[in-house]
Amino acid sequence: RLKIIQITSGSRELDKILEGGIETGSITELYGEFCSGKTQLIHLPSKCLSCCFILPEGGGEGKALYIDAENTFRPQRLLQIAERFGLNGEDVLENIAYAGAYNTDHQSKFLLVEASMMVETRLALMIFFRSLQKIADEFGVAVVITNQVVAQVDGSAVFAGPQIKRTGGNIMSHATTRRLSFRKGRGEERICKVISATCLAEAEARFQISAQGVTD
Ligand code: ADP
Repeated sequence: RLKIIQITSGSRELDKILEGGIETGSITELYGEFCSGKTQLIHLPSKCLSCCFILPEGGGEGKALYIDAENTFRPQRLLQIAERFGLNGEDVLENIAYAGAYNTDHQSKFLLVEASMMVETRLALMIFFRSLQKIADEFGVAVVITNQVVAQVDGSAVFAGPQIKRTGGNIMSHATTRRLSFRKGRGEERICKVISATCLAEAEARFQISAQGVTD
């Protein structure tokens, strides 16, 4: 088996409750309401920048593949965050393979969206996650999925994605190795809570979103 690497999130508090950061060989699900920080987290460190850092700096010494189903990828944002780490913007962008998959033509080209098109039944969704887990295991990839939830009047939350809504989120909770919930605090503060993870305590961490991305 490939060695498991922890990739820093950019926030020490967040890394602490994750016991290092976003890990390779696992599927991490980030869920929370709109603007709770999910996209910022994958923009910055964990996926697109720090996975290219050298290992002693909390990086993965690798490359990122950003599969964008909602047109949320912002290269300008990455360049802005790259400055914080003194990274050359062009190098950073070269380390990121981008797959925009927001129309049916694009979708058919990519595994993730291809699978989501097939996901009409619970079974298909389970198969999809199993193959994602296989990719994570075999190639030592850290898979991170964002999932938007909409708060209900009664205080409960429903998942916004159509496939997820149909299955009530159960498949996701069984298929992902680490589930992290995100919510807004005061101002720029965001709160991340470990919801379920085999080896992590149910701790909370507070972090900020600034021009530099995710910070303490
Ligand atoms: P979601 O959970 O919907 O994916 P995001 O991760 O996109 O939400 O978080 C959006 C928040 O990120 C905004 O409310 C804003 O506070 C913050 N943000 C985005 N870009 C910047 C920036 N350049 N400087 C400071 N804060 C930013």
